[in-house]
Amino acid sequence: MKLCSRYIHNIIFIPLLLLALLVLSACSANPATGEQSFTAFMSPEREKEVGREEHPKIIKAFGGVFDDAEIGAYVANIGGKLSQHSEMPDLVWTFTVLNNVKINAFALPGGYVYITRGLLSLASNEAEIAGVLSHEIGHVTARHTAQRYSSTIATSLGLQVLGAIGSAAGIPSVAGDAAALGAQAVLKGYSRDQELQSDMLGVRYMTRAGYSPDAMTSFFTKLRAHQRIEGMMAGKPDAAEQADIMATHPRTAERIEQAIKLAFEKQTEAAVNGNNLKAKEYLSQIDGMVFGDDISQGLIRGNSFMHPEMGIRYDVPDGFRLFNSPANVVAKKNDEAIIVFDAANPKEINKATSLKNYVTGFWAKGLRLGEVERININGMEAVTGISRINTKSGSRDIRLVAIEGTDGPVYRLLFLTAPDVTKKLNIPFRNTTYSFRKMTAAEIKNAKPYRIRLYQVQDGDTPASLAGMFAIDEYQKEWMEVLNSITPETSVPTGTLIKIVTE
Ligand SMILES: [Zn+2]
Repeated sequence: MKLCSRYIHNIIFIPLLLLALLVLSACSANPATGEQSFTAFMSPEREKEVGREEHPKIIKAFGGVFDDAEIGAYVANIGGKLSQHSEMPDLVWTFTVLNNVKINAFALPGGYVYITRGLLSLASNEAEIAGVLSHEIGHVTARHTAQRYSSTIATSLGLQVLGAIGSAAGIPSVAGDAAALGAQAVLKGYSRDQELQSDMLGVRYMTRAGYSPDAMTSFFTKLRAHQRIEGMMAGKPDAAEQADIMATHPRTAERIEQAIKLAFEKQTEAAVNGNNLKAKEYLSQIDGMVFGDDISQGLIRGNSFMHPEMGIRYDVPDGFRLFNSPANVVAKKNDEAIIVFDAANPKEINKATSLKNYVTGFWAKGLRLGEVERININGMEAVTGISRINTKSGSRDIRLVAIEGTDGPVYRLLFLTAPDVTKKLNIPFRNTTYSFRKMTAAEIKNAKPYRIRLYQVQDGDTPASLAGMFAIDEYQKEWMEVLNSITPETSVPTGTLIKIVTE
């Protein structure tokens, strides 16, 4: 979680007249797809404008730009090369690596392409990254991004209203800070036909640039393996991660194979068929790169969440699993209980006359709050209260705890339970509340993110010994396999360069 990112409230009001102008149809042949399209698209000028306007919001909503300039330049260079092989070489393309642990990639109209740091850690060679970037370039050149944007604008007014109710009731929205219009648009999935088209275009661009199209398939296999880990962590083996590339780009292995075949059939010049993977170059680029959350996002270690920049930490009860996002930190136990941690909006804090006034008049505005009391949590002033609300999944008990930090921020813990488990969780939740404390100077100094390191496989190494090198809390073997495309059937010869995760 980032301290400032809680406060993105980009409510964009698009007057209906402007909306009508946006959807004025343009009936011309698309240079990438060759299709005569009668769909209502925005003009290329408007596309660039939308991209320019939304670009900073996307960066904010997805955790900021990854601050490794070398990797940023490396990715921009690959993207720049690929875009020169597209039908829009003259567009000013912008490639951005987001400091986000989710595995995702998306594009805005006007040539803005994003990939996450999480996605970089999963890839094993440059060709896999080229495959992802050229697929995104394909969405732009085929104008899928523009199309999606028009329809999102039309529905977003309704979503904004829903979002406002959700946050007033203290219910975290799925997308969290991604409530900005652009973020909503980029998290929406494309259609299967659009995916096929982008894969075909992607194969065209990457092969023209000399990369092997096989990387598109190999990376997809990795994504599926990664999805299984995510599912295990979420306790739902088959659940697709909502804000993941599998949701934003719904594809299947078969469809990708089909796209590769079609790309070669349709476009004889694509049959340049590159065969470069550039694995060594790629691995040396990401050697030492942060894996998982960084210090500015806060670290999850076992049942503890610590934020060395904010200098605070707390523990959640056994059986709860912590999930960190730019908007908040959520801990869940099955579907029966949820703990949400975030920081209060400083504007509201400034308006409030006291911490108690903030809780009753701002945070719990519109709710009837009972048992409001002032408490002291490890030397910090706090105010707590309880209420009951109605949600889609039935009624829920909530407990709010607002804690006054030393230098201004007010931290918030929200406990949400189904009424039949509220009593049982009373003491564990109390323990969580009173575990909230300032980190010591030594703890702050010793808090380190995980990093990707390269390791050359030695004689005598086994899958188990390689997994043992992973410093992460759990699923070491699964991560070792997915990061290195190793399956139980694969042999890993001595001398192979693999990725491991250390502190
Ligand atoms: Zn796609």
